[in-house]
Amino acid sequence: MLNRIDLRGSSRDPRGLLPRAQLDVSVAVERIRPVVEAVHEHGFSAIREATEKFDGVRLDRLRVPAEAIAAAEETLDPDVRAALLEAIKRARKVHRDQRRTDTTTTVVPGGTVTERWVPVRRVGLYVPGGLAVYPSTVVMNVVPAQEAGVEGLVVASPPQVANGGLPDARVLAACALLGVTEVYAVGGAQAIAMLGYGADGADAADRCAPVDVITGPGNIWVTAAKRLLRGVVGIDAEAGPTEIAILADETADPRHVAADLISQAEHDPLAASVLVTDSPALADAVEAELAVQVTKTKHDERVRTALTGEQSGVVLVDDLEQGLRVVDEYAAEHLEIQTRDAREWALRVRNAGAIFVGAWSPVSLGDYAAGSNHVLPTGGCARHSSGLSVQSFLRGIHVVEYDEAALKDVAGHVVALSTAEDLPAHGDAVKARFAQ
Ligand code: NAD
Repeated sequence: MLNRIDLRGSSRDPRGLLPRAQLDVSVAVERIRPVVEAVHEHGFSAIREATEKFDGVRLDRLRVPAEAIAAAEETLDPDVRAALLEAIKRARKVHRDQRRTDTTTTVVPGGTVTERWVPVRRVGLYVPGGLAVYPSTVVMNVVPAQEAGVEGLVVASPPQVANGGLPDARVLAACALLGVTEVYAVGGAQAIAMLGYGADGADAADRCAPVDVITGPGNIWVTAAKRLLRGVVGIDAEAGPTEIAILADETADPRHVAADLISQAEHDPLAASVLVTDSPALADAVEAELAVQVTKTKHDERVRTALTGEQSGVVLVDDLEQGLRVVDEYAAEHLEIQTRDAREWALRVRNAGAIFVGAWSPVSLGDYAAGSNHVLPTGGCARHSSGLSVQSFLRGIHVVEYDEAALKDVAGHVVALSTAEDLPAHGDAVKARFAQ
């Protein structure tokens, strides 16, 4: 079922040989650019048009009424409520520990630099809702923003035909459990544009004011819109179609490996499931398991499309050292290590959104209830970006305070550098303070 890429005996750089989707974000950017521009220019009417086209819903207003959010919480299934509350508790525990404290450095007597961590004022949190609905993503977005101290939290999630044109009821209930009251029934690129530029809705009370930062995962269209809006607003990372890479040796259980590959393929036909192994026997056993398990899984068609797609595959390597180079090059959103001495191998990984160590830490645990965040960089962005955290909502502002003596002490150096850069007015600004 999976494409096979055999790198055994090859000392070639694995770059370019690894499974990757051809429909990449840069292609999608051009497709959704007209939607984003139309929302910027025409606001509500363009959002309505895109929503009708892509979600099959005719929007009367952008904002979800407070009564609908309260009603969703009241009718929430008790098991789902208990699971969400547990997920919130665990996520809060982890994200609270990520809070930053201001640091003041006395550079010289009388001269200090403080790094002050300040939350952004207003954030737009995207919660997907196309092929699946994601109340868990409400938790993953909202908890770090709250722990960072953000005052204005706005959630946008696609309207669902099945819920009368409102976002999924469990998504709304999760918002209620977390105390989020500003929720918009808008998805896709049009939601990202609405959050970035702001939009007037049906009446004065139906306005979405622009946000400072947009976070959250989504499909390729959402990810492309985030790339387009970067700079207009802050963007967390490109958290697009899900990826799982599993580095495994012959000690891994093929049933678990197959189940984990399927669990992420179920997100999206564009999801990527990649097994990297030095054991051809394991690769064969996983293939056999996939053949059995895929037929039994609920979203078998979507899973099959994802697993057989160009973005998924088995990579055979000579040994785990080569496997490590491959997974580092791939920079997966989720990386599982199912090997002997898994913790040692995990310590050596450089590029991954999140690492799941050993047989008892499947990605599904991290998707819901490990306490870690599931909004993670995809498409190789784990080389330079991190998953969502408290830090995503903070800015470190340097506060500089020198007294007269401390400035005088360094004035000569400032003047020398300003002269070297042919920017003498810089030096003059310092000299002016000491002129008689
Ligand atoms: P989504 O909300 O991301 O996308 C649905 C929206 O896409 C719709 O509202 C619609 O407006 C828009 N759309 C659909 N077809 C379109 C088209 N042809 N052109 C333009 N816009 C279109 O929900 P989804 O589709 O279920 O996708 C969720 C995604 O989030 C999956 O790819 C999943 O793998 C990913 N995900 C990623 C992470 C992460 O951290 N990387 C976490 C969870 C989920």
